[in-house]
Amino acid sequence: MAIGRGGTAPRRRSGAGSGMWRGVARRVLRNGGAGSHRAASGAAAAQLRRRLESELEDIRGAGTWKSERVIASRQGPHVQLAGGGGGILNFCANNYLGLSSHPEVIRAAVEALEKFGAGLSSVRFICGTQSIHKDLEEKITRFHRREDAILYASCFDANAGIFETLLTAEDAVLSDELNHASIVDGIRLCKANKYRYKHVDMQDLEAKLQDAQKYRLRLVATDGAFSMDGDIAPLREMCQLAQKYDALVFIDDCHGTGFLGPNGRGTDELLGVMDKVTIVNSTLGKALGGAAGGYTTGPKPLIDLLRQRSRPYLFSNSLPPPVVACASKALDLLMESNAIAQSMTAKTQRFRSKMTAAGFTISGKDHPICPVMLGDARLAAVMAEDMLKRGIYVIGFSYPVVPKGKARIRVQISAVHSNEDIDRCVEAFTEVGRKHGALP
Ligand code: PLP
Repeated sequence: MAIGRGGTAPRRRSGAGSGMWRGVARRVLRNGGAGSHRAASGAAAAQLRRRLESELEDIRGAGTWKSERVIASRQGPHVQLAGGGGGILNFCANNYLGLSSHPEVIRAAVEALEKFGAGLSSVRFICGTQSIHKDLEEKITRFHRREDAILYASCFDANAGIFETLLTAEDAVLSDELNHASIVDGIRLCKANKYRYKHVDMQDLEAKLQDAQKYRLRLVATDGAFSMDGDIAPLREMCQLAQKYDALVFIDDCHGTGFLGPNGRGTDELLGVMDKVTIVNSTLGKALGGAAGGYTTGPKPLIDLLRQRSRPYLFSNSLPPPVVACASKALDLLMESNAIAQSMTAKTQRFRSKMTAAGFTISGKDHPICPVMLGDARLAAVMAEDMLKRGIYVIGFSYPVVPKGKARIRVQISAVHSNEDIDRCVEAFTEVGRKHGALP
């Protein structure tokens, strides 16, 4: 036996092996066999598929399905849609200054691609920081007249990273109820005590600031300009309250940076409180060239801490060089002259006043986001479809993007729209509005 065992070691190993596999086979059989195991996961997948399909059907049924139109040209006031629709007038990009396709912005990106490559294959602190990243952070700092700035892959990331880094369970954050989803999500990630004040309601904010006196630090967080309503946060009053109750003010100025205020610095410049708003988060993906990227600018120790602790910064790739170059060139253009920042105001006024005269209700005031308020989700969707048939690209927004019963078509004016473009848009709205009963 001993010899047999020893002498037949290879066979025995193979025997042990097959025994092992037999054991596995027995276990599988006890559990219903390999086939039924696959069937079990197949059943789970089928159940998931049914649930997802039913959820999708609900969205379709509610008339709130968001489809994506495919553009086959550069971003601009006139675009070509895939499938042949050329010469479409585009009124739904955040391309406020028309810099997305500015020749100097494009050239800067091409040059950066050639000199610095397509990307860094790294996060910033490992080997993902190039001279152009530092240059852009320095320009952002100067543009906003703050102490320092830190880049992120997006403003969504900047908002995801700041609250958790800055606030603990000893602190409080007070957030406007209509703040952007990325602020809401960023706040969810932190342990601070959370207050939601009524939209731009300074009385409610004051009551909540009083309650929050028991905490170590109070941070008031608001969009500078609200992207769904085109209204602007009352930053002067907010900063006064912040002073009274020893709080800090944070703004997300994605819809203000580059064009609001005499030099396009944003809502804080527009309202004369650049020295009172402590932290600004914003995007490079809208007025500042429209490529991608976001940032935080504010006190240097905060920026230093974000570099050490902010998770979307630490654990996500560096901004690609062409993207950095687009924003950098956009900032150069804006810092050379305030003419670009000012170029949109007259066009915004033209659209708002002509639409109001036609009988539409336009939400907000003086902002290039001009929401045409319609109420009904289906009406917003069919009117947007009909506008496209007339060569005007606008988008209907409905629940859950905006509150139920407050559906709208959001029109966004760009500095590169001509007066004729704007007049064509108003005419098409008037026709379509009459056809669908939105106008008498
Ligand atoms: N904050 C606001 C107010 C926005 O409108 C957006 C984008 O839609 C973001 C943040 C996110 O910006 P980004 O596209 O850079 O992630």
